Order: sequence, then C-alpha cells, then structure tokens
Amino acid sequence: NKNNKSSSKVLTSIEFNEIGGQKSAKKELIEALDFIVDRDKVKKLGIRPLKGIILAGPPGTGKTLLAKAAAKYTGSAFISASGSEFVEMYAGVGAKRIRKLFKDAVSKAKKEDKNSALIFVDEVDVLGIKRGSSSSHMEYDQTLNELLVQMDGIKVNDDVQVLIMAATNRVDLLDDALLRPGRFDRVVNIPLPSKEGREEILKIHCKNKPLDKNVDISSIAEQTFGFSGAHLESIANEAAIMAMRENSSVIYQKHFTLAIEKVIMGEKVDRVPSK
Ligand code: ATP
Repeated sequence: NKNNKSSSKVLTSIEFNEIGGQKSAKKELIEALDFIVDRDKVKKLGIRPLKGIILAGPPGTGKTLLAKAAAKYTGSAFISASGSEFVEMYAGVGAKRIRKLFKDAVSKAKKEDKNSALIFVDEVDVLGIKRGSSSSHMEYDQTLNELLVQMDGIKVNDDVQVLIMAATNRVDLLDDALLRPGRFDRVVNIPLPSKEGREEILKIHCKNKPLDKNVDISSIAEQTFGFSGAHLESIANEAAIMAMRENSSVIYQKHFTLAIEKVIMGEKVDRVPSK
C-alpha cells in the first residue's frame, strides 16, 4: 500500500476517466466543480464561491486521485498536504504552515498562469477533530482555527480562486465548524468499489500488461469483494511479478489468484466475507 501511495504522489496529472468506478462520486464532484469553472456566471448570480469539498471514505479508494482529477478538470494549480504534517509540539507552527500552504497555492497558480488553485488536505481529521474533545489538543485547535480563518478569507473576486478538498475516513469525527456553509459545504462519499467498479479499476491497471486471452477480469472482480482501488492496483502488479518469477511473458489467471492471496495475507485486507 505504501508503494501505491508514493506512486500516486508522483503522478501529476490524471483525468476522471482514468479513475475506475466511483460513478456517483464523480458526478457529484463534477457538478460542484462546475461552479469553479463557471466563475463569471457564479459572480453574476451572486452565488457565494464554493470553498471546500470533503471526500469521505476508506483508505485507498481514490480520494487523492479524485482531487488531482478535480484540479485538472478546473484548470487549477494543485498543491497537497497531509493533516499529520501540521501536528507539531510547538504552539503556532501548525497555523503558520496553514498560512504558508494558502500562500504557496496562490503563488503556484500565478506561476502556472492559472486563475484557480486546489489545495488537497489528506487526513484532515487529524487537525479537524472536534474541538474540545478528549483527543483534541490545543495546538490542533489553533491549526484548525487558522484553516477556518483562511477559508473565510476566500472571496469571489480573488485573482486566484482557492478551493480546498479534504480527505478523511472518519467524517463523523470532524468539528462541526468545518461543515458549516461557506466552509466545507459538500461531503462526497467515496465508498469501496462495487463489483463493476472493481472491474473498471482492474482494467485500468491491466491496460499496459500482457494478459493471457483467458484471463477473466470479471471473475477477479467477483473474488475481490471489499478490496479498495489501492488493493486492486496491488493485485495487478503482484500478478505481473508472479508471471515474471515463472519466466512467463504473459500473465495468466493463476497469477491473479496467487496475487489475491498474497494481498490478503500481506495486507490483512479487512474484508467482509463475500456471499
Ligand atoms: P488514503 O485515504 O489512504 O489517502 P486515497 O483514497 O487517497 O487513500 P489514492 O491515493 O487516491 O487513495 O489511491 C491509491 C492508489 O490506488 C492510486 O494511486 C491507484 O493506483 C489506486 N486506486 C485507488 N482507487 C482507484 C480508482 N478508483 N481507480 C483506479 N485506481 C485507483
């Protein structure tokens, strides 16, 4: 899973059609993003700018990919950070980093000659945890406050329109202040992929791999109930490795079967038993 993550970090540009499954999430997201794209119309109608979208769902379901695709779709500069990066022992450091993140996003957009910037904050629950709750900490509160201050500062007439997309797998932990109108007003659910979704994801990750003509992607999708996109990417990769180990120039169904077992064993996939 670690490797998958780093590969997604280096991937700079991706489009919605390169992301498998997540049909309703993509639709919901595109509807929201059209507000950013149609900025002049939004201004004329006096609609307040869309500032934040939360992507909520389990790990490895494509939240980072969706944020990158959103940046591409809206022609925005992309900048990302993880909630855990803001966790510091010294008071004020997290808040300072938040200010820098917003500044950097604007300067990146200007440099790239774009009029919008998309800031992706992964693991936002680390800093957006309900204030005053037992696991909340004064420093996180300051960081969260700064994020809210920065978001409140976004105006429709800004040269560079900033949009924040934040990912979490625990939306229930988030401070209500984050979910107030004018902040993160949209929560888009990114669930584990359906069978159809798994099939699409497997096809995407097998596109450049030599598969034996009898490989049945649909049956692999059937056998991988409860797997995330990251796990499926791992299966496609492991199957290719298995083929290489056997000196085979094509990947057979049995390689996928072994790969599924390996991913289950290695990652202890927390899956609900399939019927
Ligand atoms: P986390 O919550 O752990 O940050 P995430 O939801 O942001 O995870 P990503 O980083 O977007 O997940 O996905 C990790 C990798 O898994 C991607 O680089 C890609 O290889 C694969 N992947 C995940 N979901 C999909 C998908 N829907 N279509 C294609 N590939 C996917």
